[in-house]
Amino acid sequence: MPSIPSSSEARWDPIKAFSIHNHEKGGAVSCVGWAPSKRRRCQNPIAAQNRSAAEYLLKDMSYRDPNTVTDATLEMIAGYSLCRAYHQNQKAEMVRNWKNVITGEQRALDRSRAQPSRPLERLPRGARGTSKSRHRRKDSKGRD
Ligand SMILES: [Zn+2]
Repeated sequence: MPSIPSSSEARWDPIKAFSIHNHEKGGAVSCVGWAPSKRRRCQNPIAAQNRSAAEYLLKDMSYRDPNTVTDATLEMIAGYSLCRAYHQNQKAEMVRNWKNVITGEQRALDRSRAQPSRPLERLPRGARGTSKSRHRRKDSKGRD
């Protein structure tokens, strides 16, 4: 297995975004399927080799933009993270859910890029005296 370059930074966290870790089970990886009869997430464990295969793909994904993830990759991850016993038939549903998640993640990422490293300036309610910035804008305009 090729290793993930350590120099690059993760852009998002698919493991978290896709809720791969089951918090009812103390954050362990269990089947991501839904058990309708129990009205909760399936608690079946996932074989170690499938788990690490899924985690590898998810980790690799985190270094790219969410919207570059292909359906084929999502299908593979769904196959790995659904239990063999009951939930392989929820693959298409999982992929659909995850694609919605991806849309949201991409939007968040684009938003954060649009305002590079500037923390949101939040003024306390009713604050006055914001005219300073307006002045500055006036001064700096008009020369290109
Ligand atoms: Zn299951």
